[in-house]
Amino acid sequence: MNFVVEDVFAQIIKGEAPAEIVYEDEVVMAFKDINPKASFHVLIVPKLDGLVTGFDVHAENLDIFGRLFLVAKYVSDLEDLDTYKLHMNVGTVGGQVVPRVHLHQLSSDYAPNLACSAATDLVYYEDDDTIAFSHEKPVCEHHVVIQLKNPEFESGLDVRETNLEEFGNLFWVAKSVSQQLGLDGYKLFMNVAPKETTSHFTCFHLLSPDYKTEL
Ligand code: 5GP
Repeated sequence: MNFVVEDVFAQIIKGEAPAEIVYEDEVVMAFKDINPKASFHVLIVPKLDGLVTGFDVHAENLDIFGRLFLVAKYVSDLEDLDTYKLHMNVGTVGGQVVPRVHLHQLSSDYAPNLACSAATDLVYYEDDDTIAFSHEKPVCEHHVVIQLKNPEFESGLDVRETNLEEFGNLFWVAKSVSQQLGLDGYKLFMNVAPKETTSHFTCFHLLSPDYKTEL
């Protein structure tokens, strides 16, 4: 993958470049985006080297990917956000510029939004915990909804230290479906707004690169 920018986030993590840090633990750091697209916009970044894109998720690091959702929840508590939106560009083809995994967390005034979908017959992946199916009203060439089946996981706010792998598995299923579809890159979106959503399941959107966003 041909990134033209270096890993500027590594310098922030090492304290060698400035950033407005809003949260940090041993595994993850969250800091304000230098060019915000909403009144609140942070990047949630794993500290571990070697996680370049969302394609680097695998069975052994599901907890690290799940922790990105957990840190978003912690940040929302710290910043008094009732609702927020999560976005990730995966790979240069998916619009990713900085070569280190990063989840964008934006306040709800970030305009782009996507509604969840009822299940459709075009199922790309299913196991005991997770299902991925084509969106009933796709907004781009490939628009796939990835849902956790457990009704206790109603939204991104239901992530806990004890279920990081289930949430991290959303990233793994997205990678797996993207490979089935032959995508070299993709975008991921989750609206964490439990009162607004009509779905009772956590709903993660996988979008092909033709989906246009500001991010
Ligand atoms: P991507 O396009 O890779 O998904 O997002 C990269 C994000 O990193 C962009 O929103 C951009 O504004 C932000 N960014 C790029 N360089 C820096 C930097 O040096 N510091 C901070 N805080 N954000 C940066």
